[in-house]
Amino acid sequence: VIDTALRGRKAHLPETHPTYFEQPINMVRARDCRFYDEHGRAYLDALNNVTLVGHCHPRLVAAATRQLGRLNTNSRFVYDLLSEYAERLTATLPDGLDVVYFVNSGSEANDLALRISRYLTKRDDVVIIDDAYHGYTTVVADVSPSRYRHYGKPDTTHPTPVPDRYRGAYGYDDPQAGAKYAAHVIETFDRLAAEGRAPAAYLFEALLAGGGQVVLPPGYLAPIFAAAAERGIVTIADEVQVGFGRLGEAFWGFQTQGPDVVPDMVTMGKSMGNGFPVAALVTTREISRAFDPTGRFFSTYGGNPVACAVGLELLGIMEEEDLQRNALTTGGYLLERLGGLAGRHELIGDVRGQGFYSGVEFVRDRRTKEPASEETLMICERLKDEGVLVYPTGPHWNILKLKPPLSFTPAMADEFAAALDRVLEAGW
Ligand code: PMP
Repeated sequence: VIDTALRGRKAHLPETHPTYFEQPINMVRARDCRFYDEHGRAYLDALNNVTLVGHCHPRLVAAATRQLGRLNTNSRFVYDLLSEYAERLTATLPDGLDVVYFVNSGSEANDLALRISRYLTKRDDVVIIDDAYHGYTTVVADVSPSRYRHYGKPDTTHPTPVPDRYRGAYGYDDPQAGAKYAAHVIETFDRLAAEGRAPAAYLFEALLAGGGQVVLPPGYLAPIFAAAAERGIVTIADEVQVGFGRLGEAFWGFQTQGPDVVPDMVTMGKSMGNGFPVAALVTTREISRAFDPTGRFFSTYGGNPVACAVGLELLGIMEEEDLQRNALTTGGYLLERLGGLAGRHELIGDVRGQGFYSGVEFVRDRRTKEPASEETLMICERLKDEGVLVYPTGPHWNILKLKPPLSFTPAMADEFAAALDRVLEAGW
């Protein structure tokens, strides 16, 4: 069956369409934190990219199917679900962030954020953190790493150093690391202004995914936001990967930098529909009025009734199952177990993360930090053979990105750590 599936893909998809693993798995179903392949074999999901409350959560399945059988249309019609969902969603955000533009994917949300920023500021340039991925539309591909583009770097995109305390200029032992990395961003704002091209926006992720599972150092965002406000630069938090309680400490990633750190716009997707396409940009009334006073922006499927039913149910599940708290406690426990492995295996150079979003960086030599890229891929293949799914990320593909559903249990954390321990012990 896997051969037929792969042949079918080869015949009708681009030949380079990516698959996880050298020997891909034909998945037939999933439930909570496990996938099941065509032979009924179970795989623990520490890799998942979208599932927040567990795969095929029965309440979500019921909400979606119920709504699909009742009403699904576009948001020019009026239905209660849209306003209920917008109200519930904005209640998770700081005061002032209360206008929602519903779209269908993270890329669309970021694309719209840049469009609004450019329109409001009448400027073009965008400052980003190097190596951060923000999506696939042409506009957001321009602000994503070059390996995802098909042409050269646009001269309106200005990367700033990844605030990586493992590899970067300022380390974990430097309490001023956050402020020092922030200074590079502010210098970039000022250099661009001096060149007559002050930036429209500063776009960031609160824990860098593609950039290498990098946790922002404390004190990083506050000075950047203050400088941006003084200079009329729009701040955009891309919460597509990190939002919705995943980081444990707070519902939104930017909130882990302190209560006063509030961006002008927040973009979200992935987790908010648990795999169903639901995405949004949330901003202030002032910005929304200035952007679109005549109502020219419209997305046909954004905020459709089924998307709203799923999104609303997901917020209810998050609360009733106390999943943000589990991200904090069990996520912390998982990090602790991974840290313990670093004491036993030289290959582990660094373990970092927040809540249920962590990274294990493999290096050939702890002193030179030479990335163990091939080894990392092999480790993922061996873990798959052990029934555990995880995948590399980062500019050198030498970092395991762990992003399990928030319903992951301590027993599952043990299962993951034991499998990784066995694979590292056995070698390859
Ligand atoms: N922003 C971030 C941080 C992402 O990780 C992604 C997807 N990997 C996107 C935006 C784009 O989201 P989508 O693929 O849903 O368009």
